[in-house]
Amino acid sequence: MDGSELIRFDHVTKRFGTNTVLDSLDFTVSSGKHVTLIGPSGSGKTTILRLLMTLLKPDEGTIRVGGEYLTHEKKGERLVPAGEKHTREVRKNIGMVFQQFNLFPNMKVLRNVTEAPVHVLGMPKEAAEERAHELLDLVGLTEHVDKYPSQLSGGQQQRVAIARALAMRPQVLLLDEVTSALDPELVAGVLDVLRDIAHTTDITMLCVTHEMNFARDISDDVLMFDSGRVIESGPPEKIFTEPEHERTREFLSAVL
Ligand code: ADP
Repeated sequence: MDGSELIRFDHVTKRFGTNTVLDSLDFTVSSGKHVTLIGPSGSGKTTILRLLMTLLKPDEGTIRVGGEYLTHEKKGERLVPAGEKHTREVRKNIGMVFQQFNLFPNMKVLRNVTEAPVHVLGMPKEAAEERAHELLDLVGLTEHVDKYPSQLSGGQQQRVAIARALAMRPQVLLLDEVTSALDPELVAGVLDVLRDIAHTTDITMLCVTHEMNFARDISDDVLMFDSGRVIESGPPEKIFTEPEHERTREFLSAVL
């Protein structure tokens, strides 16, 4: 939690056809901070997470993670498009939990969590299992390690997905509306796990959420998006209680 810059977007533009979804976006996230992206549907929040996962590429601008360019490499003084290997190395610092849990359906819970550490990071199986047990304990699933995803509730599956993301020891965890596919009675359990992780680990978090109470509890900073731009940002006490921008007031009165 040293406060150094971990994520940096410089003039990032992303278009889909003629639709400019992000418009020369600049923002930074410091190490150890929890930053929440809020704003109307379609304002570009998920696109930011997908760019960080390199599921999408920016049309213009650069993204840096831990000082390293994500989709570019330095050749002398010039920036050139990065090769797969470079991008993969930089992306190893990032974990993501999706709306749909995307677990491996044919693997038991424990193996869902050990698979990538063993096969991507080359961790010995025993060490990966030990770590997986710790993480599954952290998310409250100790009794379910030998089950298949289909034997679990949506909330439990999402908690496996959180443990699986953390197993890669990412510096930053991206959370994309992780409770929006859940039945209402399962939401609180998942948010409690995330609150716990936010308050007890030094992982950096970048969240897109409609859960405003959760955002208020865990965020150091809230960024309000509208049409691909940050129109207002600040600590949650300020954004939620005395927003400056009319669009922020309108948005909050619709969702709170
Ligand atoms: P948010 O997360 O704020 O709801 P998104 O980042 O998901 O917004 O989407 C922003 C805009 O980009 C929307 O208008 C959406 O329709 C468009 N969009 C997102 N992904 C694609 C895609 N793969 N192809 C075309 N348009 C897309």
